[in-house]
Amino acid sequence: MDNRVETMYEKLGISKEVFEFGRKIEEELKPRFQKMDEIAEYNQLKVLHAMQDNRVNESCFHYASGYGYNDQGRDTLEQVYASVFHTEAALVRPQITCGTHALALALSANLRPEDELLSPVGKPYDTLEEVIGIRKSKGSLAEYGITYRQVELLDDGYFDYPAIREAINERTKLVTIQRSKGYQTRPSYSVEKIGELISFIKGIKPDVICMVDNCYGEFVETIEPSDVGADMIVGSLIKNPGGGLAPIGGYIAGKEELIENCAYRLTSPGLGKEVGASLGVMQSFYQGFFLAPTVVSSAVKGAVFAAKIYETLGYRVIPDGTEERHDIIQAVELGTPEGVIAFCQGIQAAAPVDSYVTPEPWAMPGYDSDVIMAAGAFVQGSSIELSADGPIKPPYAVYFQGGLTWPHAKLGILKSLQGVIDAGIIGKERLR
Ligand SMILES: *Cc1c(COP(=O)(O)O)cnc(C)c1O
Repeated sequence: MDNRVETMYEKLGISKEVFEFGRKIEEELKPRFQKMDEIAEYNQLKVLHAMQDNRVNESCFHYASGYGYNDQGRDTLEQVYASVFHTEAALVRPQITCGTHALALALSANLRPEDELLSPVGKPYDTLEEVIGIRKSKGSLAEYGITYRQVELLDDGYFDYPAIREAINERTKLVTIQRSKGYQTRPSYSVEKIGELISFIKGIKPDVICMVDNCYGEFVETIEPSDVGADMIVGSLIKNPGGGLAPIGGYIAGKEELIENCAYRLTSPGLGKEVGASLGVMQSFYQGFFLAPTVVSSAVKGAVFAAKIYETLGYRVIPDGTEERHDIIQAVELGTPEGVIAFCQGIQAAAPVDSYVTPEPWAMPGYDSDVIMAAGAFVQGSSIELSADGPIKPPYAVYFQGGLTWPHAKLGILKSLQGVIDAGIIGKERLR
């Protein structure tokens, strides 16, 4: 290796031992990285093909204001999303403020009083608890007379088919399936597994709407849940499909009628997709979507690199260093508060923005323990950018994700390791 690179690492605070250890791990991962490059290549071509097919042109990036009638850039982008995800339609808007908003929109637009919502995959993402009304909240689905049922997962983290069959009834209107484990300990699901679950459900009740929370999953594989029977897929643009460039936004892609319902709910009955000016964000939406396949691939490489590093050092990592990936999240159980803090401070120190800030654990609203968060992002809260957070409670795990480029993800992880070593949590001799 060119020792100018080593010198740069040294300038960025990486010791020779850590650098060498990282190099060894990276070498072992070469065959896996090659597979990830192949996925990125396929997905890049898929996005490019969709952009060409839909005749994306320079005027798509023009500023649109006011009502946004005939906002051609916006309308074309929605066709591009629909082409990539192989759906009839899509809604991709800066007016959808985040992933939770997109999910809340998809649910409230397609459920009516007395309908029932079913999660066959256990507890949904934390923020959805208030949306559904599992935790009481203003304007929840529960307040509108929409009931909710949940089927717990089996001990292996997979689907309890007999219980799911039992849970489906004449009021079951919509089934929500979360692809990524998020910050739980169950596995993230492959698109193939999600397809099996959808087939099973449709076999019992063909007209039930199957929605997939696709957050953190886009472009990790070469197919998406919409390729295996999902009627709607939903996600955030400050995660995977925004490619790090989208400054805000969410998307819903799926059947024409369902997307129309979403548009009517987002703007107003009668207006639907026709209004909602894009206010100059289109260029970043297009360019971010164009970059997303390689950005996601960098993030996945970072996740696997971290898994392999910490696993080699004897820590429990989820998923482990050999498992196939279905999302970009990596959990590392450091086992002590000091470990979690040192790890997160290392990630922060590697950031392009706010690298000089030292994050500390604090009592965040909505959490039942102190949490430490590392994020030095160009877009606030963007989790396709390298970021980590760790609740200060057993098993003292950090969850980290993102990395717009592989070299940055790599530096971040080496910096976390350096932090853990400098704090005396791992002895230097263990790197040999
Ligand atoms: C991030 C995430 C959400 C919520 O998205 P926000 O943009 O944070 O509101 C929902 N579900 C999953 C699985 C997520 O990862």
